[in-house]
This record gives sequence, structure tokens and C-alpha cells, in this order.
Amino acid sequence: MQIISASWLIICDKNNSVIKNGAIVYDEKIIDIDTLDSIKNKYPDIKIKYLKENSVIMPGLINSHVHMEFSSNTTSLKYGNFITWLNSVIKERENISLKSTSKLMSNKLNFMKQTGTTSIGAISSYSYDLQACKNSPINTVFFVEAIGSKADMIDTLFSDFKARLKEVQSYKSDSFIPAIAIHSPYSVHPFLIRECLNIAKKENLAVSSHFLESPEEYEWLHNNKGSFLTFFKNLFGQNKAISKPLEFLNQFKNIKNLSFTHCVEASKNDLKQIKDLNATVIHCPTSNRLLNNTKLNIKNLKNCDLNFSIGTDGLSSNNSLSMFDELRNALMIHDNINPNDLSNTLLKAATKNSAITLGLNKGELSHNKDADFICITLPNIVEDKSLLALNIILHTKYVDDTIIGGKNV
Ligand SMILES: [Zn+2]
Repeated sequence: MQIISASWLIICDKNNSVIKNGAIVYDEKIIDIDTLDSIKNKYPDIKIKYLKENSVIMPGLINSHVHMEFSSNTTSLKYGNFITWLNSVIKERENISLKSTSKLMSNKLNFMKQTGTTSIGAISSYSYDLQACKNSPINTVFFVEAIGSKADMIDTLFSDFKARLKEVQSYKSDSFIPAIAIHSPYSVHPFLIRECLNIAKKENLAVSSHFLESPEEYEWLHNNKGSFLTFFKNLFGQNKAISKPLEFLNQFKNIKNLSFTHCVEASKNDLKQIKDLNATVIHCPTSNRLLNNTKLNIKNLKNCDLNFSIGTDGLSSNNSLSMFDELRNALMIHDNINPNDLSNTLLKAATKNSAITLGLNKGELSHNKDADFICITLPNIVEDKSLLALNIILHTKYVDDTIIGGKNV
């Protein structure tokens, strides 16, 4: 059992609670959390580790959507439009994944740890990121991704998917959790979706899918028109989308931990359906901005009583895998919400909500949650505690310590 004390504890609960001069008692899990005075009284015999002045302890950040396999990209892909980007991904994919070695991905994961990330939801297209993820101290929910829209290929694709999932499941541990990703409504055949989701239900695996990321996707799924039509005609001789948005969503009933990434073009009905499925929305603001997609309407989500979590997406559509960089971008992009309120929302989105998204017992400093937390130091005193969240987001580049499962990693 250990005790650590900081100037501020950011709980990340629904009330945005903060404890001034607080302390946490923990082993693998959080045992107790309270003011320093009260912890001293309750545990008089245990040595306390005191952090510096203006120190903050908060739950570790949870990056709920990242593609590690694209980690070598810096300047190869074309930003500014979704289809232009997609075509550049198809052209450069092999090159980028060849250069994204296990060593490079391990370095990126190490950077993520130093910048406060303690868990990730890794979307894996080929399992090239398997070694790096399972060797990292960061907890990984590893999403084996299914993709393929051609009916005559489904048997082969499904066999390949099952083989990959089986290998990933052989590494299952407390910190490495297999899960299933469906690439998107436009790229996965409904039969393949059905088979993969049957496995998810039977084995109680988390499921995630990209959903309505761009205006082009909206136009294709709703009206079979736009630049997706040219794309699908040229590539697969296809002139009709394989699913409508609501048909697609309806396939995901009875999945325990379900999430949809982006959703920036989702209608109110789509959002309502996502809510009815008890799913969460994953928001990747930098990726949306770089591909010149619509900004997620956070107020619309709130009206549907939908929570969102935060992901960086991959380096295929971002220049950083730091969650603090992502939070700063989100703070600047959503310029119609008061920055103090937004900062509280964002910290919770990146901790508590991301934990719910991935089905983890983490993301909040409270009794019995896993002891995954980060220690940071603010550059100066914060007098008004309602400004803490904003200052944490503005000023944190690297963390002082990253604790995962009670261990300083
Ligand atoms: Zn993605």
C-alpha cells in the first residue's frame, strides 16, 4: 500500500470534483482518496510521498481511438479533403506500414506514456502493431479490424479475420484486451459485419466502428452519389452503397461496449439510435480538421444525452499522438463553448468517458478503480479551482510520472 499527495486532485467524476491538498492510498487499485489531513489520520503508519508545489494528480489519459500501424507517416499523405486523403492512403499504405516497424511503434507508445496516456484503443488493420502494443506498459484494448465489401470475398475475409483474432486472443491479459473493429458502413459487407458481431456477442468483446466521418460518406450512404461513387466504381465496379446509416447501426444491438468514431455527419436520428444502442461517440478533432471534415456538434450530442470520448486517430491524420496536444486542439476548435466548461468536459471525455467506451475500470480517481494516474506540475499557482482544467490542458506537454496499475512506469 502506498500514499501519494499533491496540491490538487482532479477526480474526473460527473460533478468535476477537485480536492485541494489531497492524497491517494493505492496498491493496484485506488483504496482511498481524501484530503491530506484526513488520510494522515486514517493511515498514520504509512509513509507519504509528497509531490511539489502546484502539483496535480489526475486519472491517466485514455486514447480511445488510434491506428499505430500508420505511425511512420509525417508528410506523405494529402490533407484537406477526405477522398483525396483516402486515395493517398491507398497509394502510400504499403510504404507507411513497412516503415512503421515495431521499434518505431514502441517509441511512439513510449512518447504517449510520457505525455500522460495510460490506456489506448488500438485499431489494428493487419496486426503489425501487435508486438509493440503487447510489450508496452500502456493498457491496450486491441481492436482486430474487419474490412471488405465484396460479397464473393466474404468467406476468405472472415477466415482471415478469425485467424487474426485467434492469435490476438492468445495474448489476452489484464492489460491487453482483444476487441473487434468494423471499419465503416461503406467498407464492410453486412454479412461480414453479422458474423464478426456474433463473435463479439458470444465472447463479450468491445466493438468499435468509424461512422459518418465526411460529407462524401454522407452523400454516398444516403444518395449513392458524390466522389465516393467515382471511388467505388473505379476500384470495385460498385455503384450503390452496401448499407444505409440506420440499417448499419441496427446491426449493432446487444453489444456491451460499443463505440462509433467521428459521427460528425450523423443526423439526430442516427445519434438517437447510437444512444439507444448504449454506445459512445469517439471524437478525433485534429483528424476531422486536417481532412477538412465537419466539426463535431457537441451540443447536439448533449441534447441526445450522448457522451463522447477522445482519440487522436493515427499519425495518418494527425501530427501528434499526445492526448494533451489533442485536448488543446479540441479546446481551440470548439470555439462556441466557454473554455472553462469545455475544459472540464474534455478532461472527463479523455478519462472517465474513454474508460466507459473501452469497457475499462479506470478513468476516475475513486475507490476500487484501477490505480492508473498521472502526476503533473503546473508552472505557477492557480488561485481559482474552477480554472484548473483549462490550465492543465494549456500547460501540460509532458507528465512527471505515469502510474499504471499502481506501478510507476
Ligand atoms: Zn480511425
